Amino acid sequence: MEHEQARALNSQERDTSPLYAPVSSRRYVKSSVVEALARMGIHRAFQLLFHFPRDYQEITLKRTPRDLVEGQVQSIVGAVVAVRTLHTRRGPIVTVTLSTRDGDFVRAVWFNMPFMARSFYQDRLVMLTGKPKYDSHAWSFSHPNVTYLDRDLALTEDLFEEEESASSSSEAPPEKRFIAPIYPLTEGVTQAQMQNVISNALVDLPEALPEALPKELLDKRDLPGIAEAIRSIHAPKTMEEAQRAKRRFIYQELLVLQLALAICRTRRQVNMRATPLTWSRKIDSRIRRLFPFELTEAQNQAIAEISADLAKPTPMNRLLQGDVGAGKTAVAVYAALQAVANHTQVALMAPTESLARQHLRTLQNYLRNSATEAVGVFGGQKVSERRAVLESIRTGAAQIIVGTQALVHGEIEFQRLGLVIIDEQHKFGVRQRANLKASSTLEPHYLVMTATPIPRSMTMTLFGDLDVSVMHGLPPGRHKTTTALLTPANRASWWEFVRRQLDQGRQAYVIVSRVDATEEEEEQEDTIEYVPERPSNGQAELGIWETWEGPQRDRAYFERRERASQKTPPKSERVASDVAKLKDVWSVYQELSQGEFKGYRHGILHGRMTSAEKEATMADFRSGVIQVLTSTLVVEVGIDVPNATIMTIENAERFGLAQLHQLRGRVSRGSHPGFCAIAPTETPLRSEERENMTQTSAAQLRASLKRKGKAPAKRSGKRKGEEPSETPEERRRRESYERLVFFTTTTDGFALAEKDFELRGPGELFGQRQHGATSLQIADLSRDRQTLLQAREDAMATVAQDPGLADSSHTTLRRQALQRYGQQFDLGDVG
Ligand code: ADP
Ligand code: MG
Repeated sequence: MEHEQARALNSQERDTSPLYAPVSSRRYVKSSVVEALARMGIHRAFQLLFHFPRDYQEITLKRTPRDLVEGQVQSIVGAVVAVRTLHTRRGPIVTVTLSTRDGDFVRAVWFNMPFMARSFYQDRLVMLTGKPKYDSHAWSFSHPNVTYLDRDLALTEDLFEEEESASSSSEAPPEKRFIAPIYPLTEGVTQAQMQNVISNALVDLPEALPEALPKELLDKRDLPGIAEAIRSIHAPKTMEEAQRAKRRFIYQELLVLQLALAICRTRRQVNMRATPLTWSRKIDSRIRRLFPFELTEAQNQAIAEISADLAKPTPMNRLLQGDVGAGKTAVAVYAALQAVANHTQVALMAPTESLARQHLRTLQNYLRNSATEAVGVFGGQKVSERRAVLESIRTGAAQIIVGTQALVHGEIEFQRLGLVIIDEQHKFGVRQRANLKASSTLEPHYLVMTATPIPRSMTMTLFGDLDVSVMHGLPPGRHKTTTALLTPANRASWWEFVRRQLDQGRQAYVIVSRVDATEEEEEQEDTIEYVPERPSNGQAELGIWETWEGPQRDRAYFERRERASQKTPPKSERVASDVAKLKDVWSVYQELSQGEFKGYRHGILHGRMTSAEKEATMADFRSGVIQVLTSTLVVEVGIDVPNATIMTIENAERFGLAQLHQLRGRVSRGSHPGFCAIAPTETPLRSEERENMTQTSAAQLRASLKRKGKAPAKRSGKRKGEEPSETPEERRRRESYERLVFFTTTTDGFALAEKDFELRGPGELFGQRQHGATSLQIADLSRDRQTLLQAREDAMATVAQDPGLADSSHTTLRRQALQRYGQQFDLGDVG
């Protein structure tokens, strides 16, 4: 932010402004401090103003020792009269005696810190802060914080002001409260030095700062002007004042981001042209006829928003959000057919080839009674086949083209591409507009679908240039997964339940976060590229025995299982204790094979297998040859086995809530209700919580298995807040446990995403990706949601009124938006 402020000055102003003077040219700054500041990136005077406190210390200063009370943090000022070091058998004791203004005495005591004696000399003025005790006829502070007032000019000023008012009034208050800023430091500069340099800068500089925010916005949002805000954030009289100042800077940072996004959006509307894909009643009824069901309210709403966008001559940029199974595909098919009805082509892209193939199958199913031609472009195609497909795309015979991202970056030549649909599932990053090989100057419309609910504040920043449609709820007949917490107490009954389900013909997953015992990192990115489908007459849905091919298949399967076992490295010694608590896929597989799942057909799947092995295993699971699949995260993407209705997740806290939600979505794909059990690695440390957990979760599991489909009742033992005596380790365990409990009580993916975001921040959802949302300096998207909404509203209104931010009241804001986001959002030549 400080750099933007500097750039807000033009070059002429820079030369003469005291804001831009080197820090070294200011009075009272030692050269060692100048060097330390430079190492923190502070070179110019104005940068001091934008070095904000990281925290504040509230000081309660007592006027006389007679007003001190035991057990509270208080401060008192005095001059040093004596320093003594007593050498005892238990070590040296330093005692410093101070004389206070009213002629009384206080003591400060340090045990085993002989060097403390060197910090004091006769008459040195210091302030002690700590919890004093009355001891042998005097107040004494044990190991207090010491502020050396001769080094702290600002504070001393405050204190003398106090002294003066105290002497001038007979009814002086017994104490004074004030707030000291605590700054981020680096080696070579002390807190007091930093406080001094900055408070010195506050004397003359704030009024020279240019105001970036127009007056209407300051008034509307009740925010302080720049000079007042700078003073308040460094030297607040009250914490409220500091908060208000901070709110201004948060607002400003978010406003600048939102302005950049708004400019980006406006520019697209002005500069880009697309084919309007119009809608008519006739088109509508022709499309609806193809669906074997009535579209839901949520689907109709999303369709209405998309249809309206498609009909415009500017390209649509819309994000369609909905939980797994919410019915997004039908919405996408509707949009595709509206494009086809307007004689344009549609590219439908999925993150993996197996998902793309699934989409093609779904599409061809819907299009059975339609003349629309859908084709797939896949890696494994024969040359002749591929040539024919590409030709049909070039001539326009193929109307809907399905594939991976390669579709719009490769050699494919479209006849007339009107709409691009991107199904990102939970993978982001496909968003960049395509490099189309089309000769047309018209842009296609874009529809991005995601099954990871994205917190609202994220869609407004990371995806801030997109319009958003949200589908809540699931279509009728779809089930939510019943979820329970798995504990040592209920494990046996859970496995019993799983076996009964297997006996009824269902299939089960066991998800493990690690491949083997020596590996520290879980595999996150492992995906199956292509899962060939075995010819099936739909019997897999009825139960596995119908598709079981007998001993022949059986032997092949067990041979493969042997090979997989040889590939797995021998269990070596366990590494760090933390890692040792995590289960690895191979031990879980072996343990279950010989125990709970003895006599059941049990398969294993992990990232160390070759893709041929993975494909074969998946095909066996799909067809029902394998009843239980113990697997690492590879199942996350690209598996749709409707008959698999049970999932067990070990070391569940290793996964984000959104990720767990994705996983459990896998077991409610078919007509049978799904069940999921999540097992925490550790139980809370406190025994009452531990008991509470095992008791309630056993009861909960029983109950939830009975009342299937209903969310388990909220447990009573859930504790809010932390107890003072709680150790960090206890707290970590309790929080990780509470997060999992929350997961079992919530089926709403959006609520989970918000919680995840709150607990783990945007990085967790979007990795280390540098983007507007993650590079914010003072704003925090989960904390500052309200301010974000305000900034967004104001940015939209501002750009609607003044699209180029050309008005003189917007000059600084425009400069800041361009400086910070120009490159990222490709704003290049605005204005
Ligand atoms: P998503 O892509 O959002 O995960 P899908 O579009 O795959 O969800 O839909 C999930 C399932 O719900 C599919 O089997 C689909 O046939 C079914 N479905 C979709 N819309 C409806 C509806 N309006 N009524 C009944 N079933 C529906
Ligand atoms: Mg889908």
